[in-house]
Amino acid sequence: MSSKRGLIVAVSGPSGVGKGTVLGAVEEFLASSDANAVGRSISATTRKPRGNEQDGVEYYFKTVEEFESLIEEGEIIEYDKYCDNYYGTPAEPVRRMIGDGKVVLFDITIEGSLALKRFFPEDCVTIFILPPSMDELESRLRGRGTEADDVVKARMDQASKEIARAGEFEFIVTNNQIEQARDDILSIIRAEGLKKARQ
Ligand code: 5GP
Repeated sequence: MSSKRGLIVAVSGPSGVGKGTVLGAVEEFLASSDANAVGRSISATTRKPRGNEQDGVEYYFKTVEEFESLIEEGEIIEYDKYCDNYYGTPAEPVRRMIGDGKVVLFDITIEGSLALKRFFPEDCVTIFILPPSMDELESRLRGRGTEADDVVKARMDQASKEIARAGEFEFIVTNNQIEQARDDILSIIRAEGLKKARQ
């Protein structure tokens, strides 16, 4: 028997596909049996807070100068630019959570997921979330009500490009229904824990 190894669950998918909601449901389920079993990486970003978002909860909100100095100081494992803003993963909390044997959930761009897989080949699984359809994705983006029309259009263009890259991921989950998508991700996490290489 060896001590439990942490697992990075890197989840990507177009904006509006419901990654945050599905990951929240996965986190809630895992935490219900052991609150210490799961962690969520809180990213740093230069985008402005939306709605009720709070610093240190959804994101660490930074200025461009602050973000660039985090990169220079090596405090960001990976970062990407999305719709003209920086998004990146602070290194220290992730290393700590993996060292503690936790399942660590990431809501991250495609390049971010692929970078995590390169850094942690044995201890990272990549999952792409698809919408049930493009019409459904657009109505979810509009329904969110926080984005102007031109932003919705930019995000739909971006979504088509992203969906074309779903094949670069190890698993693909369709978010038709939150409970189903949650259960699919829980099955993937269980199977990863049983992999020979990870025991
Ligand atoms: P939003 O502005 O909708 O919160 O996020 C925009 C995009 O940035 C989403 O696709 C989200 O997954 C991605 N993202 C959030 N945090 C990170 C991060 O730390 N690294 C990378 N590469 N992407 C991130």
